[in-house]
Amino acid sequence: MADKQQKPQDIFNFDYTKDGRERPPQDYYEQIKEKFASERDLRLGYRPPGTDNYTSDLTGDLAKYAVDPYGHEVEDRDSLNDQVEVLFIGGGFSALLTSARLREKGVESIRIVERGADVGGTWYWNRYPGVACDVVAYDYLPLLDETGYVPTRHYAGGQEIYEYCKMIAERFNLYDLAVFGTTVTSTMWDAEAELWTVETDQGDTIKARFVVCANGTLSKPRLAKIDGVENFGGYSFHTSRWDYEYTGAQLENLKDKRVGIIGTGASAVQAIPELGKAAKELYVFQRTPSSIDVRDDWETDPEWAATLEPGWQAARRARAIEGPEVPDAVRARRQAMSREEKVRRQENANIDAMMRIHNRIDEVVEDPATAESLKPWYMLMCKRPCFHNEYLPTFNRPNVTLVDTEGQGITQINESGPEFDGVQYEVDVLIYATGFEVQQTGIYNQIIGEGGLDLNAKYSNGIRTLLGIHSQGYPNLFIMGGYQAFFAFNLTDVLNSQGEHIAECIDFVRQNGIHSLDCTHEAEEQWVQEVINHRGKTNRNRDCTPGYYNFEGADNRRQDGNYNGTMKQYLGHMSEIRENMAEHFVFTHR
Ligand code: NDP
Repeated sequence: MADKQQKPQDIFNFDYTKDGRERPPQDYYEQIKEKFASERDLRLGYRPPGTDNYTSDLTGDLAKYAVDPYGHEVEDRDSLNDQVEVLFIGGGFSALLTSARLREKGVESIRIVERGADVGGTWYWNRYPGVACDVVAYDYLPLLDETGYVPTRHYAGGQEIYEYCKMIAERFNLYDLAVFGTTVTSTMWDAEAELWTVETDQGDTIKARFVVCANGTLSKPRLAKIDGVENFGGYSFHTSRWDYEYTGAQLENLKDKRVGIIGTGASAVQAIPELGKAAKELYVFQRTPSSIDVRDDWETDPEWAATLEPGWQAARRARAIEGPEVPDAVRARRQAMSREEKVRRQENANIDAMMRIHNRIDEVVEDPATAESLKPWYMLMCKRPCFHNEYLPTFNRPNVTLVDTEGQGITQINESGPEFDGVQYEVDVLIYATGFEVQQTGIYNQIIGEGGLDLNAKYSNGIRTLLGIHSQGYPNLFIMGGYQAFFAFNLTDVLNSQGEHIAECIDFVRQNGIHSLDCTHEAEEQWVQEVINHRGKTNRNRDCTPGYYNFEGADNRRQDGNYNGTMKQYLGHMSEIRENMAEHFVFTHR
């Protein structure tokens, strides 16, 4: 058991260099790739590439989908007109992690400004039934060495993670200056005072020397653009605004309700099994199926937990970043292969993994037509892979119907519910599991830097950052979890490294009598080129079925995405930059 718990998560654990058991002929793989391509084209045929088939402008008729159902927890307060040293926009893991590092360096004046009624970010908002994290909890939950906490399960549930966020905030005294139920509306550089002026929807005007955009990668809920959304006569909400007053804490109010859920991404995959158990009838409106693999979950072994010495998580993280040891023989085999051969083998192994996922569907789902509809026809990792043991069996329940829109999606909603292919689906409640807008910085607020330049306007010609964290002309501003940074399946690995980097930068400024730091144009340009050099090496984005991983199938500028070097390379660049601060930044002194 202990061995099992030590093992890092590896969703891509196939050795493509080995022929192993006899493989089908290459023709078999080519045919599947053709099917992948035709399914992608089908989906792109129904919706023009890009994010236009979604809206995250949740105002007017749609404003109710953004309302915080847990917001009644926020106390009324007077508007603030004061100054802090470090201000965080957002109170999720980005802010918690970085604040902890800043506290270790003696920074006292830290304020979190958060829309929700508490810290937690994603884990504050996403409270839908079944919510949990598919990244191993011993890796995902940050600061376990510092807090001494050991997650109760291999995969932690949402409630546990949310409680843990609050524990971090308590442990590092982050509640003292925090304000909740507050949205930052503008962040403006005051060149004379060399401070940021942050304004909020609660009438606050806060001066801050440092601002950290910790507003989350996927924090703004979006709805699919569907004709007639506003005409629906029943009750409706987004998964990230789950209304337990309506459903009942245990979903008991749904026992006489016809429920519809639109979308089958990672959120829906977790909510659907619970809805299937609770609702009188459940209709699942699917556009593209998710890949559903086995979820190997268990309770943490207390004997193993008792053996953990402080530093265990840091050591584990270091091992994960280093990657699995590659035996010499495998390394030699890889080196001997041409690039084409490597790509072919990787693709074949990926297809094998997807066909294993298909086989599991055939084994579990009783109705052959439903089983066929649930099969994902794309390479693993084109979409966020999902892990669940109850999702597929849910479709064997007599009260659950899969409405396969075969790539088209729901396009019409009437007073009584969605209509598809001439069939009217009458539902009492409609749940939008349609995801989130991907962070471009300034997603909720304007960020105006030197010379009055709005960061979004600067980005309109292509994102420009150093490490995805600094952007020239925005002194003492740091961005977390955005584009041009490394992207990992375990997001907190990235946030952890960014938090450490930001705390080091702030500490450097404080220790060296510097007032502000801004990256140079040259340093930024070098990073943009580094990002470009690592992107576009494969056809992945073009070949994949649309989703937010590939900008919904749109052709993007090569600089407008994640840094595709390795995590180790990303960390190497960070260290190099910190060792030579004066080469990469300009400083002011006051
Ligand atoms: P996603 O963006 O992944 O899913 C949105 C869903 O809505 C897709 O299935 C999409 O279909 C569907 N959709 C959009 N428009 C329509 C329409 N008109 N008709 C029918 N379906 C439609 O959002 P999620 O909230 O599910 O997940 C977001 C991310 O959050 C995940 O990728 C993951 O990173 C994270 N997450 C992680 C979890 C975990 O650890 N297990 C759990 C939950 C979320 P299509 O695929 O065709 O675009």
